[in-house]
Amino acid sequence: MSIHHPEVVVTSRIPPFLTTGLQENYVVHERDHIRDRQVFGRVRALVGGGESKIDAAYMALFPALEMISVCGVGYDGIDVVAAKKRGIMVTHTPDVLNDDVADLALGLLLSVARKIPAADRFTRNADWLDGPFQLTRKLTGAKLGIVGMGRIGQAIAKRAAAFDMDIRYHTRSQRNDVAYQYVANLVDLASQVDYLVAITPGGAGTKNLINAEVLKALGPQGFLVNVARGSVVDQTALIEALQKKTIAGAGLDVFVDEPNVPAELRKLDNVVLTPHIASGTVETRKAMSALALANLAAHFAGQPVKTPVPECRT
Ligand code: NDP
Repeated sequence: MSIHHPEVVVTSRIPPFLTTGLQENYVVHERDHIRDRQVFGRVRALVGGGESKIDAAYMALFPALEMISVCGVGYDGIDVVAAKKRGIMVTHTPDVLNDDVADLALGLLLSVARKIPAADRFTRNADWLDGPFQLTRKLTGAKLGIVGMGRIGQAIAKRAAAFDMDIRYHTRSQRNDVAYQYVANLVDLASQVDYLVAITPGGAGTKNLINAEVLKALGPQGFLVNVARGSVVDQTALIEALQKKTIAGAGLDVFVDEPNVPAELRKLDNVVLTPHIASGTVETRKAMSALALANLAAHFAGQPVKTPVPECRT
């Protein structure tokens, strides 16, 4: 091991492209496999995926820590306040995943509306021999509410526009750079639309944003798609709404306690479930890995990092 290579700890599962890049330029340790106590004093960066959990107590194990490089745009598992207090730079990988996350959001919208997974099972089971598949719901021209109109929200809206959808959105502050109708109250937005898509950050500021009241407003004809974070939706209220059919259905890529998905949810036939795969294409994971590596390289070359999280921008 070269003494010139900074030492880093990988804190969660990362794409293979990032592992390879790290191994070429750093001395790499795995979070749960550090046997030599001396390592803790030498580690200068932590590297992990968007689901990494790095609190102040964990950071305190590394007295020489300078940087946390997140390979993902969401960083709700990182205590950025604690990092900033210690002068630790936190970076993430925004923008390069917008297309994939928006593509999956549209995929889930189409899947819940047209019941594509159920239709696939129906065909495989030869149920067609007994009669035609049930009628489904139309996506084109329907009303879409987007909760969160940032980088990914706008990519979803662009795609929905190609489906002639009537697009409205809710954020804390109205944007002056988009033409979609702004709805200041989330319950109002839910009551106006056929489809509601959540694409905000996770964390305390959005915990249970989509609650029982919002789901009630969405109503028995309304569908929810969540590609944000599991914490953004009150999962217990959602399961109850789906069981009682007080909403029509849901497409979910994210869950409260991943990878545990409640059995009640898995049993329902009015949901389409995916295992947090929104940015999970080869192309995008390569781009995210390259950006995470570029941030590390810039930092260790004494240059400004490319994509600091907003709290760490000076
Ligand atoms: P941005 O920061 O560009 O956009 C976030 C949007 O959320 C803004 O429009 C913001 O507007 C809005 N927002 C924040 N807090 C609230 C709130 N309390 N109520 C309503 N709106 C709110 O982020 P991105 O678009 O790049 O990413 C969004 C999130 O998507 C990520 O943080 C991550 O959690 C999730 N994601 C999920 C993936 C997956 O695999 N499923 C992959 C990638 C991202 P305002 O500040 O005005 O409220």
